[in-house]
Amino acid sequence: MDIQVIGVRDLPLIRKGDDLPALICEKVAFEDGDILAVASSVYSKAKGFTRDLSAITPGADAVRIAAKTKEDPRFVQAVLDSSTDILLEHPFILSELPSGHIGVRAGVDHSNVEDGRIIILPPDPMAAAAEVRDAIRRITGKNVRVIVTDTCGRAFRRGQTGIAIGWAGMTAIDDYRGDTDLFGHVLEITEEAVVDEVAAFANFVMGESHQGVPAVVFRNCRAWNGHDNVYFMPEEDIIRTALKGNKKD
Ligand code: GDP
Ligand code: MN
Ligand code: MN
Repeated sequence: MDIQVIGVRDLPLIRKGDDLPALICEKVAFEDGDILAVASSVYSKAKGFTRDLSAITPGADAVRIAAKTKEDPRFVQAVLDSSTDILLEHPFILSELPSGHIGVRAGVDHSNVEDGRIIILPPDPMAAAAEVRDAIRRITGKNVRVIVTDTCGRAFRRGQTGIAIGWAGMTAIDDYRGDTDLFGHVLEITEEAVVDEVAAFANFVMGESHQGVPAVVFRNCRAWNGHDNVYFMPEEDIIRTALKGNKKD
C-alpha cells in the first residue's frame, strides 16, 4: 500500500504540563505500525524545557562569544548550558549535546514561543521518543513508532531540513550492507539514515512558522533492520576533527 502522510492539525498552543501524547491521540486514530513524528519544540514546551532569558546570567565565555556572534549573551549562555563540546564559536555556535547530536546553537529556539522565552532541546531525546511511544500504546493499545524531530542546518548546503534527534520502535539506520543491487553487486557501504529521511518529510509537512502542525503521522511505511549508531565516533569523524583543528577566536 502507498504511504499516507497525515499532518496533525488543530492542536492547541502547548504549555508546560500538557499531556502531549493524549492531545495527539484525540486527533489521530492510530494504527499499528504508524510512524509519528513530533517536533521537539512542542515536546519541550509540554515538559517545560524552556527558559526565561531574564533568569539567565551570562558568564564570561557567553559574553565573549556573544560579542562575536552579535547575539544576546543570555541566549549564548543557554546554548553553552545545553552543550557538552563546542566545535565552532562563530559566525555561529556549533556544539555537541549530551545526546550526541551536533547542531547550530545547540538547537535552542526563539521561534514559536513567547517573547523573552527560549525552547531548549529535550536533554534525552531517545527517552522522549520512548515515552511518547509508551504513552500512545497505553492510551490506544497501538504499537506506534515515534521520531522526535528538529529543524537543522547541514554542512555544505544552504537550507535547513528536519532531522531525527530521538526515535523509538525502529532503528535509525537501515543497513543495506550485504544486500545485492539490481546487477547482483554486493553493497558494501550503504547504510540509509531512515529516521532522518522520515523526519525531513515530516518537517516539510510541519512548516517552520505559524502553521501549527507539530506532529505528522506516516502510515504504511515498511519496517527495516539496522542499528542506532548514527553519530560517528570522534576518531572517525573527519569533519569534526578538521573543525576542532581549525578552531580560532
Ligand atoms: P522545531 O522544528 O522542533 O524547532 O519546531 P518549529 O518551531 O519549527 O515548529 C514545527 C511546527 O510545529 C510548526 O508547524 C509550528 O507552527 C508548530 N508548533 C510549534 N509550537 C506549537 C504549539 O505549541 N502548538 C501547535 N499546535 N503547533 C505548534
Ligand atoms: Mn528547533
Ligand atoms: Mn522547525
